[in-house]
Amino acid sequence: MTFSLPHIISILDAKTVGTFNNFTIENVSIDSRSLQNSTGTLFFALKGLNHDAHEYIKTLISKGVQYFVVEFIPEGLEQKANFIIVSDTKIALQQTAKYYRSLFNFPIIGITGSNGKTIVKEWLNFLLSPDFSVVRSPKSYNSQVGVPLSIFGINENHNLGIFEAGISLKGEMSILEEIIEPSIGILTHFGTAHAEGFTSEKEKLEEKLSLFKNCKTVILEANKEIENLLQNNPFTWSFSDQSASVYFEKNGSQLKVIFNNTTFEVTVPFQDEISLKNIATCITTLLFLKVSTQKITERIPKLFPVEIRLEAKKGINNCVLIDDSYSSDYQSIKIALDFLEQQKLHKKKTIILSDVFQSGLPIDVLYEKVGRVLQNNNIDRIIVIGETISSYLKDLPNVISFNSTIDFLKQFNTQSFQNETILIKGARSFNFDEIVVLLEEKKHETVLEIDLDALTHNLNFYKSKLNPETKIMVMVKAFGYGNGGFEIAKLLEHLKINYLGVAFADEGVELRKAGISIPIMVMNPEMHSFSTMIAYDLEPEIYSINELNEFVKIAQQKNVASYPIHIKIDTGMHRLGFEKPQLEQLIAILKETNLVEVKSIFSHLATSDDTSFRAFTLEQYKRYTEASEQIVKNLKSKPILHILNTSGIFNYPEFQLNMVRLGIGLYGVGNSDEENQKLQNVSTLKSIISQIREVLPEESVGYGRKFRVTNRMKIATIPIGYADGIRRAWGNEKGFVSINDQKATILGNICMDMLMVDITNIDCQEGDEVIIFGKSPTVVEMAKTLDTIPYEILTSISQRVKRIFFKN
Ligand SMILES: *Cc1c(COP(=O)(O)O)cnc(C)c1O
Repeated sequence: MTFSLPHIISILDAKTVGTFNNFTIENVSIDSRSLQNSTGTLFFALKGLNHDAHEYIKTLISKGVQYFVVEFIPEGLEQKANFIIVSDTKIALQQTAKYYRSLFNFPIIGITGSNGKTIVKEWLNFLLSPDFSVVRSPKSYNSQVGVPLSIFGINENHNLGIFEAGISLKGEMSILEEIIEPSIGILTHFGTAHAEGFTSEKEKLEEKLSLFKNCKTVILEANKEIENLLQNNPFTWSFSDQSASVYFEKNGSQLKVIFNNTTFEVTVPFQDEISLKNIATCITTLLFLKVSTQKITERIPKLFPVEIRLEAKKGINNCVLIDDSYSSDYQSIKIALDFLEQQKLHKKKTIILSDVFQSGLPIDVLYEKVGRVLQNNNIDRIIVIGETISSYLKDLPNVISFNSTIDFLKQFNTQSFQNETILIKGARSFNFDEIVVLLEEKKHETVLEIDLDALTHNLNFYKSKLNPETKIMVMVKAFGYGNGGFEIAKLLEHLKINYLGVAFADEGVELRKAGISIPIMVMNPEMHSFSTMIAYDLEPEIYSINELNEFVKIAQQKNVASYPIHIKIDTGMHRLGFEKPQLEQLIAILKETNLVEVKSIFSHLATSDDTSFRAFTLEQYKRYTEASEQIVKNLKSKPILHILNTSGIFNYPEFQLNMVRLGIGLYGVGNSDEENQKLQNVSTLKSIISQIREVLPEESVGYGRKFRVTNRMKIATIPIGYADGIRRAWGNEKGFVSINDQKATILGNICMDMLMVDITNIDCQEGDEVIIFGKSPTVVEMAKTLDTIPYEILTSISQRVKRIFFKN
């Protein structure tokens, strides 16, 4: 992409500050972390609820970015770059995209619906790219910000666009319509997903249909009610209504297609209802675009499962894999590289990349750009596979080239991949899934999935309760409450958290070894670990005179000065900490030494989750302020004061002081229903169905014949048991799992590695996904039934369960 700034400035009706030397834009960015930010970037400083990209402008200038669209110029930067000042940067981004879109004139397909948008888009892209030069939205970039960013992917050589549009609030679709300007519409499945921002289903539907304002034709499943709302020509498909434009009949893996009095058959690679609907939408679109039936019957059987999101998975030899092995186009390479940068848990970065397709660019220009973007991202090892990419890139530094995936696999050696983050990005025809299989750690069918977006959301929710200057310490003790220590710590470091808290020195050492560099407090520093702690820059909680003396002794041996320590006051929890009578002695020691420095003074509330103990909490707070004042008065330094944990932030934000210590809430679990409503679910424990069987009356299920069968029933066995952390008390019909969104009651005793559930009324097959906890049942529900607290459920999940982290 390129466009010139003067146009943009006049369209935005903006004020400018700077010299603006005839500048051409090559790249639009909203992500301060992207390594693609450079001199050719126009950076839009967006403001979110809890973050403001204006804060990063200074850093971006130091990285060479010169052009910014802002709402204000951050202090001290007036002379340092060029600024386009607007009243709303998000609207400015949308208007710029709208202008950019207007420079092109070729058919664009606009897709909306509740489900299936991304799959239909990806499949159409695959099905149509032999005949067109397609530009499409990357991943599921369909929002108020995602759509504009997608539009900037268009260039002169494209001749068909496929863009998806998703909305959550009223009024949003008309904005997207004006940006995408689709000429052909597709409505995928219309369900109830995301109906919150709307008063009724009908209102929501009408809003969606406004995407099609200027479309001649809309492709959709035959449905009289919806068709009546349309202003356009419907081009419909159906499995039941023979009067639809295209009529389908399913017969095993064959789909009979009847269109315009001709009939033909295609083999479909998926049999489930949702996939069949998406396939029908695609075939109907191809027929509408006059693609021959021969091409349709050739291409449909090759459709593939679409990974909508990028995932970081555990690989062999402590590697992390980012598997993006089904597409390879210039736009999505850039996105994958940004994801790699955010996720890299190791300094060393490797990319395995196939020939690149569908750029719409002349081939030498394309590979020149690909080469540049790889170099800019400082990739340590670039493995290119494919004759074309090899011929263009083989002479660049760090490049190893292979003509085919088979050549690569022949030379593959597991030992050559160690402690690195590997991005695997290839077009489907290169079968990079075979490489993924080799690099992936042996699969366990049970996984704990951690939604990093939800984690970020939860952090932002608590931030919204705090003053902007209040610091945040996040407790990542007990392996991030069972969720995975260093992966979460890494994200928190990105999110600019001030402190991390762990229980034991070992946990802190692990984080340091993984490259975490923000301050870490250790709550139970055992005396024998003091010197290790100093070696790894870990800061102890000091709770007794004995401990302090011992630490000072080691500090002296290690020759450190002003080593940060954290003074813990016992105000009523009666676990660890100084009480009033010891304060004088504490102060005397502190005054005497310059080996340590009090970085913070804190206490812990015993009942912040239960407001019926308000008086007790107030008393704890009072004791805390008295003690901290007494200490501070005698110190030269000004320590950070903190007392609140998660429910403290929720119930007593007035006591936030200089810092809070966030724990369970970050992981999506609050201590009240009201709080839980604001949080998003972070952890989902998943497994699959190993086997399904029928059992007859008089039979029983499991050890001890605890469940007796009365009526003939269907049961499923799931490979997860108490050794994975599922409590036995959750068995014997007390607990349940979710299969295809339905509750399946646990029958009989839970075994060490397995459990059995009732699926008599559930439509499911062996291999189907099973939710052990997540959205339903929630850990909160489970904890209630088991008469415990969510903390215990989360931290009990065994380390043998593989953790998978993802972001949308
Ligand atoms: C665990 C812990 C926290 C966090 O508690 P949550 O209830 O999970 O927010 C805060 N402070 C201390 C001292 C802790 O041990």
